[in-house]
Amino acid sequence: MIRFSYGAATSPGRVRQVNEDSYLAIPPLFVVADGMGGHGAGDLASRIAVEEMTKCVALRPLFAEAVLTALEHANRQIIERDAANRMGTTATGLAGLETAGGDHLMVFNIGDSRVYRLVGHLLEQLTVDHSEVQELVLAGVITREQARTHPRRNVITRALGGDSGRIPDHWLLPAVGGDRYLVCSDGLFSELPDEVIQPLLAAGSPQQAAEALVTAACDAGGRDNVTVVVVDIDSDNDGADEATLPREALSSSWDGHA
Ligand code: MN
Repeated sequence: MIRFSYGAATSPGRVRQVNEDSYLAIPPLFVVADGMGGHGAGDLASRIAVEEMTKCVALRPLFAEAVLTALEHANRQIIERDAANRMGTTATGLAGLETAGGDHLMVFNIGDSRVYRLVGHLLEQLTVDHSEVQELVLAGVITREQARTHPRRNVITRALGGDSGRIPDHWLLPAVGGDRYLVCSDGLFSELPDEVIQPLLAAGSPQQAAEALVTAACDAGGRDNVTVVVVDIDSDNDGADEATLPREALSSSWDGHA
């Protein structure tokens, strides 16, 4: 069983009146949703996403299909509640899965909110943004750092609330004790480069880190809503041992068929 420690913080920032971000932080599910649409639509869309995701929190064990189905339901709910088709939301996060082969984390993403992993001092972005500027980065037209402040950085290519929202990216990782994860909206990394995020994320408890990051993004301009969820995989769980199990299980069943 994976044990989590976690903290969360959110702010409308220093420019916007409404916070259209929503988040969920109930083990084993951690989600950030960044709504768009304005006029009460963006915050509704992100709230719907979080409400739908909350429905699978109580499942034991939580499994990948349940999380993906919840995202699909959120997509449909947003379309049904939005006749004018104006609203949408990102949905990005981390789910602890207790699979037959051991403890895993599923990272999932639709849109341009992000999941990062901090291992020691190494900060690594795990998700790939669904955005115009990300496509320019992949094409070698602009750098990752130029994308961060690019005027069209807000244009996303996939979101919940439309046809494009049906297929989230998702990855499975072993749950390794001592790793720290960051789930955040673009209001964080638009204001702060990785080298500023890294030491703030690394310091203190998950709650202290979440609050420090949101404060720093606001101090740097706070031009967008900013939401941060910080999740630690506790070292005293036995996931590190179990992480070797899937490979053994896989090879023995392969041998059986050979
Ligand atoms: Mn945003």
